[in-house]
Amino acid sequence: MPAPKTSIDDIMWLLIVASALSFWLASFIACVSRKSPSVYNGGPFEGKNVLLVVAHPDDESMFFSPTILYLTTRGYNLRLLCLSTGNADGKGDMRKHELLKACALLGVPTEQVKVLDHPNLQDGFGNNWDHSLLAKIVKEEIASCGINVVITFDSYGVSGHCNHRDVHYGVRKLTLESSHGDIKAWELVSTNILRKYIGPIDIWTSILYASSNPARSIQLLTNEDPRKSYAAMSLHASQWVWFRKLFIAFSSYSYMNTLRRIHPTDSSHEGPLPETNKEL
Ligand SMILES: [Zn+2]
Repeated sequence: MPAPKTSIDDIMWLLIVASALSFWLASFIACVSRKSPSVYNGGPFEGKNVLLVVAHPDDESMFFSPTILYLTTRGYNLRLLCLSTGNADGKGDMRKHELLKACALLGVPTEQVKVLDHPNLQDGFGNNWDHSLLAKIVKEEIASCGINVVITFDSYGVSGHCNHRDVHYGVRKLTLESSHGDIKAWELVSTNILRKYIGPIDIWTSILYASSNPARSIQLLTNEDPRKSYAAMSLHASQWVWFRKLFIAFSSYSYMNTLRRIHPTDSSHEGPLPETNKEL
C-alpha cells in the first residue's frame, strides 16, 4: 500500500527536521547563556589594554565580534588596528568609514580605531605583506598605547586570505623577538569548513577542542547577542552582499571565538615562518 509508506516517510522526515531544529536551538541557548570566558589550561587576559590587529575593514565584524563584544562589555580598553583600508576594489575610503561605524556599534569608539593606508600593505590576494614591517608597526602601537594584550588571526587566518596570514606572522615575529616574552598575544583559532558553517552548534566541538588540548592556553568567548554581529556587518554596506549575509547567519564565528595563546617558542603547532619571509 503506497499511502502508508509515504506517511511513514513524512513522519521520519518531520522527526529529523524537528530534531535538527531542536539541536540548533539548544546549542544557540547554550551559546548565548554561557558565561565567558571559559578558560582552559591557563589564565584570562593579562591586562586591560587590548589591541586587536586585523587586515581589512569587516574582519572585526565577520570573525572577531564575540571577542570584541566580550571585551567592550567587561571593562577592557580595546583598541583596533586595521592594517589596510581594504582598497582592492577602489573602495578604501568608503570601507574605512564603514569600519568606524561598525566599531562604534560593537562598543569601540572612533578614537580607538586606527586604519592604515601603507603603500606596502595594500589589500589583495597577490599582495604579500612584509612580516618585519608588520611587527614594527604593531610594536610601535603597543608602545604608544600601553598595550598589555594583542589579539589577531592564527596562521591560517580563518579564510586563508594571505593578508590575514601575514598579519599573524607579523605579530608572531614580534613575540619571537620579544626577549622576555613580555608581549602577550592570542590568536583566533581557524576551524575546518564543517565547523565553520554550523553556527552555534560548534559550541560543542569548541568545548571538545579546548578541553582536549592540555598543552595550550585557550579561552572560549561566546556571543551573548549575535544580532549585534549581524548589525555590525550590515554597516559595511559596500560588502553587504547575499553570501556575506548568509555567512554571518551561519558562521560559528558570529557565535563564538576560540582564542589560543601564541607561545613564541612553540614551533610544534605553528610551524616555521614561511620561507619567503624568513629573511625579512
Ligand atoms: Zn579580511
